[in-house]
Amino acid sequence: MTLGMGFIGMKSLAGGLITNSEAAMAFALQFKNLVPIWGIQKEAELEEWLAFMDHEPEMNDEIRAFIEQERKELAGDFCRGCGYCMPCPAGIKINTCARMSLLLRRAPSAKWLAPDMQKEMEKIDSCLNCRSCVSKCPYELNTPELLKKNLADYRQVLAGEVKVGYEN
Ligand code: SF4
Ligand code: SF4
Repeated sequence: MTLGMGFIGMKSLAGGLITNSEAAMAFALQFKNLVPIWGIQKEAELEEWLAFMDHEPEMNDEIRAFIEQERKELAGDFCRGCGYCMPCPAGIKINTCARMSLLLRRAPSAKWLAPDMQKEMEKIDSCLNCRSCVSKCPYELNTPELLKKNLADYRQVLAGEVKVGYEN
């Protein structure tokens, strides 16, 4: 910015994990020369974004509080889905499977619970514990452990022991 250059804000909705488009837009508008690439999951979100072209949301205390809460929830072992840790020698789709618990709760869940995705999640049991992913993750995540946690949660959701309660 100090060099007078613009920049592209990728995944302004964190690949569908941030569910408040108004907050994301208000945040992005604070930065001049920022062109966001939103990454929406639902048609309704597209309509929200288009409406923002006419009425730009402004940052306010309510949005600030929401952003702070999101920061707390997504800090720590939050897989960003970047895929820099891949490929995995066991064929695990790390960039999806390591954030499955969040996807189930923050995005339409039906496709993540479909049989093809169940097969992908079951591959986590074949992890070789080579830790190649750990050495490549820019966020220093303990990826094998994170995958196991996501698989345990996934199985509970499939078994109906945990409700994810996100509308599709
Ligand atoms: S530790 Fe497991 S998940 Fe990570 S690269 Fe190796 S096999 Fe894949
Ligand atoms: S584990 Fe790390 S490197 Fe791999 S997808 Fe997630 S954030 Fe990216």
